[in-house]
Amino acid sequence: MTQETGGFAALGLHPNILAALTAVGYEEPSPIQSQAIPVILAGHDMIGQAQTGTGKTAAFALPLLSKIDPAKREPQVLILAPTRELALQVATAFETYSKQMPGVNVVAVYGGAPMGPQLKAIRQGAQVIVATPGRLVDHLRRDEKVLSTIQHLVLDEADEMLKLGFMDDLEIIFEAMPESRQSVLFSATLPHSIRAIAEKHLREPQHVKIAAKTQTVSRIEQAHLMIHADQKINAVTRLLEVEDFDALIAFVRTKQATLDLAAALEAKGYKAAALNGDIAQNQRERVIDSLKDGRLDIVVATDVAARGIDVPRITHVFNVDMPYDPESYVHRIGRTGRAGREGRALLLVTPRERRMLQVIERVTGQKVGEVKLPNAQQVLDARIKKLTSSLAPLVADAEASHGDLLDRLTADIGCSPRALAAALLKKATNGQALDLASVEREQPLVPSVGAPRERRERDGERSGERGEYRERRAPLPLTEGRVRCRTALGTRDGIAAKNLLGAILNEGGLAREAIGRIQIRETFSLVELPEDGLDRLLGKLKDTRVAGKALKLRRYRED
Ligand code: AMP
Repeated sequence: MTQETGGFAALGLHPNILAALTAVGYEEPSPIQSQAIPVILAGHDMIGQAQTGTGKTAAFALPLLSKIDPAKREPQVLILAPTRELALQVATAFETYSKQMPGVNVVAVYGGAPMGPQLKAIRQGAQVIVATPGRLVDHLRRDEKVLSTIQHLVLDEADEMLKLGFMDDLEIIFEAMPESRQSVLFSATLPHSIRAIAEKHLREPQHVKIAAKTQTVSRIEQAHLMIHADQKINAVTRLLEVEDFDALIAFVRTKQATLDLAAALEAKGYKAAALNGDIAQNQRERVIDSLKDGRLDIVVATDVAARGIDVPRITHVFNVDMPYDPESYVHRIGRTGRAGREGRALLLVTPRERRMLQVIERVTGQKVGEVKLPNAQQVLDARIKKLTSSLAPLVADAEASHGDLLDRLTADIGCSPRALAAALLKKATNGQALDLASVEREQPLVPSVGAPRERRERDGERSGERGEYRERRAPLPLTEGRVRCRTALGTRDGIAAKNLLGAILNEGGLAREAIGRIQIRETFSLVELPEDGLDRLLGKLKDTRVAGKALKLRRYRED
């Protein structure tokens, strides 16, 4: 075990969970995790004030999984989440963290999907239920004993649940659980209504909150870009085209992400390297020395590995993954603007992390303005500008030293100086696209981020009578004869569409045309496959591994 996973080990988590954390590449607990895990492990009720992006899901999932008895095949943990989207995310997180715990099963219970399979999974002994309140009450109406064995309850995003009108449903659910249970409540805000619930249903809860001291970050120009998680690498490479940087440090959350991004940047010709807790100390020092003296221009690091980096030539900090709290944000961006110089900090924000952005703005007392992804014209202008500034200093001397050669070459080749200069440019720029049409062709399409989540929910269609809201982003229509299949592997497991495609082509023996759209998300992926012969195909792919992890492709239930 590396020194860094020791941070989790010291919290008293189950060894199999520590093994799963090493596999996902978490290096150290986030602040909310360090505080909440011991409290939950000790069996206390708790109120945690934290928003998405702080690592709050793992803060309750890890200790509760440690407390589960896998031999008991009955529901022991109930997580309530306001939306189907969040319930699925939390269920996926539980699945990831329990990968090394045989016998632990998780079921997601939400509206809009048939009730039968959900009930069956509960009856078959799923120990963890992740549910939206409305659908869970429907189950309780059919079987009032469904929750009679629950020992641990978590209300996730409690303020959102109340905003969506789930108060009455929550009361019904509380009544259906044993009083002796442990109750944990997570909420970004603690309005009166939430305090009232805590008073009524929690026993001597301990409060856990990440202290937010105001911090100043002058001299650093800050901006943010809204982006979907699976588009981050595209976004970073495009931003780098237009940012005028000397040296840059990019922060991500996991070891795997340091490797993926560093590899993608190297492939684009940048002098980039990864820095994470798995890299030996002397090697880390070599990376930092290389950044200092210009052998490297970009370092992609986790927070742990970047501690104490003081390199004056760092002009830019890219927060590719959101920091866990404002302190860590301030600390990260303090890597630039060293020695009295100016610095620039860019923060990538996924739709669910908007709140965290607001918290950062509040704590730093500064607005973090929005930038858009540069378009092809801006990329082209930036390329030409770079070319101009690299050639301009050479012009004065070059005619004296190479003028005669130019005359000879134009004569030998029989071309004009303009034609020769163009040929030299082509050679010097290594086939780089330098006209608008070619740059446009080269830029991968990055879908823009839509309306804020809150609005989507408000406008979203209701599913069922109980006021559950479905995500508005409707699944894309399927081609006839194809079905969608799902795997719990996503970008955070280091998966890209090409890996998934490669695995299915190689091991499934399919032709490329048989495979439809592939959608890679952070915590799961969807792929369209032919319905005909699906079971046989899934059988062939049963033991397939992608990026070292079991693919476990399953038919996805459209609803
Ligand atoms: P959450 O605030 O629970 O929505 O978590 C936000 C993201 O942080 C998720 O993608 C998690 O996988 C990731 N995450 C949570 N804890 C850690 C950790 N200790 N190290 C690295 N990534 C983490």
